[in-house]
Amino acid sequence: MLVGHDKQDGESTDHNVVKKNIICSSCDNNCLLEAEFVDGELKTFHPLNGPRSFCEKPFFWKDYRHHPDRILHPLKNVGKRGEQKWVQISWDQALDEIAERLQKIIDKYGAESVAYSTQPINTGDDQGMLRRFFNLLGTPNYMTGMNMCFGNTIQVHRCTYGNNQLADYSKAKCIVLLGHNPHRRNWASEANALEDALERGAKLIVLDPRTSENTRRAHLHLPLRYGTDAAMLLGFINIIIEEELYDKEFVDKYTVGFDQLRERVKEYPVDKVAEITGCDPDMIRQAARMYATSGGSIIPWGPIPDMQVNGTSAARCTAILISICGFLNKTEMLQYPDPDLVSCSVLELHGMLPMEQKLKQLGTEKYPLLTYKGYEMLREPNKKVFGKDWLNLFTSFMCNPASVFEAMRGEGPYPVKAFFALGSNALMCYVNQRGAFKGLMNQDLIVVQDHWLTPTAQLADYILPSDYYMERPALRNQDHSPAMNLQQQLFEPLGESRNMYDLLKGLADRMGLEDYFPWKTFKDVLDYRLQKTGKTYNDLKNNPTVLPSRGYDPFTEGFATPSGKIELYSSVFESLGLDPLPYYREPAQTPISNPELAKEYPLTMFVGVRDKALYLTNYRQIEGMRKHNPYPEAFVHPADAARAGVADGDWIWVETTHDRIMLKTLIDAEQPQGTIRIPHGWWMPELEPGLKTGLSGAMLFNDAMILPDDDWNTDREQGIPNLRGGLLAKIYKADQISK
Ligand code: SF4
Repeated sequence: MLVGHDKQDGESTDHNVVKKNIICSSCDNNCLLEAEFVDGELKTFHPLNGPRSFCEKPFFWKDYRHHPDRILHPLKNVGKRGEQKWVQISWDQALDEIAERLQKIIDKYGAESVAYSTQPINTGDDQGMLRRFFNLLGTPNYMTGMNMCFGNTIQVHRCTYGNNQLADYSKAKCIVLLGHNPHRRNWASEANALEDALERGAKLIVLDPRTSENTRRAHLHLPLRYGTDAAMLLGFINIIIEEELYDKEFVDKYTVGFDQLRERVKEYPVDKVAEITGCDPDMIRQAARMYATSGGSIIPWGPIPDMQVNGTSAARCTAILISICGFLNKTEMLQYPDPDLVSCSVLELHGMLPMEQKLKQLGTEKYPLLTYKGYEMLREPNKKVFGKDWLNLFTSFMCNPASVFEAMRGEGPYPVKAFFALGSNALMCYVNQRGAFKGLMNQDLIVVQDHWLTPTAQLADYILPSDYYMERPALRNQDHSPAMNLQQQLFEPLGESRNMYDLLKGLADRMGLEDYFPWKTFKDVLDYRLQKTGKTYNDLKNNPTVLPSRGYDPFTEGFATPSGKIELYSSVFESLGLDPLPYYREPAQTPISNPELAKEYPLTMFVGVRDKALYLTNYRQIEGMRKHNPYPEAFVHPADAARAGVADGDWIWVETTHDRIMLKTLIDAEQPQGTIRIPHGWWMPELEPGLKTGLSGAMLFNDAMILPDDDWNTDREQGIPNLRGGLLAKIYKADQISK
């Protein structure tokens, strides 16, 4: 049912045309779109970010929303775990039973025995309430895949200059893409911003071992070896300091630790960096000079350097480059929480979670940076500068996912016995999938809220149907960025699907937490968030974006770091016993670090590639999208394929020292020889659900099966698993047996 007619078209027409703004959640680029209804029917979408077009995903809304496999009623598994004996029950029954079972687990094992996983990009607005509920319950064990994608970078930025910074393409004179490849079928608004900048004459530097549309039109293309981004950036910093291309006045006035930085980067002279990265030293020099002297460069965030054993160091390097070249708040805009909003951090009530529980957060000792402990030294500066105590910049205060699965298997400091996967296909989105599977099989309670019977949902006790993003109002604002985007509700939720807030409130009401959930609906929560502005959601909903009434000037108000300055040498890292300066270490499995192993496993893997027509583990049910990516495909260079005796289209095993998966060969001359690209998130919903089919193929096709979570393959500071170079594989035809 159409909820209301807003923005009536002024032109005289025989038809009733209504336009509503939405935030596309079909991928994580969150393009702002205008949905056009004609005579009550949703006909099309228009871009609100600018005149350029966007991708086709939102146009499949009807196939998605009305798909026959969409879960529209609460389900309970009455068989053994994974047996798929589902019966339909009411929401009330589901909530009553979940609340009772959850309380029993807490009474027996403690609140820390509950863990929860979510996907904050697509469920963004509900995050405040999600964390509120679990904080009140008493568990610190919150996790998302963003520990290896963006969340980890934000944490590094906040340690360096107090908050996240975002690249402003509209001001950029030079753009550096670290393997990042925004294109119109995925990340459309960023691809459009890139086009605009290039048309205006911005220079383009691309660091990518593959060739692509962007490398072909780049002013400089550095085909670095997979996984060596941190080494390359350390080389850039060294050249920029050596040649005195940095902004001396800015460095003197606003930074600390420059002398220590200078000493550290001397360890990365250009010839050494050329040797590590495999790039020409002159090209490296040219790129560093072009970046530093452009008059305004950007390094837009992208998920390539994030997922490496040097991921934290690579993020440190970008923050340092931005700082020493004086681009902060010129082309790289420092973000801040909107003071006029009740922020997500305030909703979350982190202060209500006792400190002794905070310190039980799994993974704290090994990988402290992103945890509550990692925030200790930032707490006072955040209070001072932003007026907020526990300031969550998107996914702050996160436990380590691998440590949670370990505890689920009974191998941790205490057991995890109850697991919530809310908008998260948790089995498939971390690493060591077989370990995650064992952990899930060892749970006393699993609750999933989703649209589909995903592989994770197939292991659940209860599945609760989730609303689709066009079926809910939204106010998208998080504390790492002050811009507030609003979405109008286009439809009522189908069947008995409900917002995540209804699930949380339903449990809170049954577990003695009702006073903390006084809002009847999610829209009431949005009104609460806006209360300081004197406006309601309805007053503002026609505005796709609302900017804060005032900005933040770090140069006069100070940076939210312990020193109040930009910390090139990080006091937070030092206090946690981590290296306060960036560094490069060769991953454990490369032809350089382990030539013996490379004889048996000759291919360096680049894992986690998103298929353009799909998004993460989603959309494989949607025929119009799936036809572009019908199978999981491994990109293999022709010479490597010939050596392994496989032809284009052959099914192959891709085997690592950890495990193996089956993929189809896609022979691609642009894939560098000696490497292989592996797609992310594959299962086949058309296969029967359950253990016999490996959870609809998830245990056969998904990349997380071949990725270990061992320390040797993990970033030291944040426990980021390595996906982008530094892990070896071999391939062989699927009808052959591995030796
Ligand atoms: S790139 Fe496409 S799917 Fe992603 S947010 Fe934009 S329109 Fe939606």
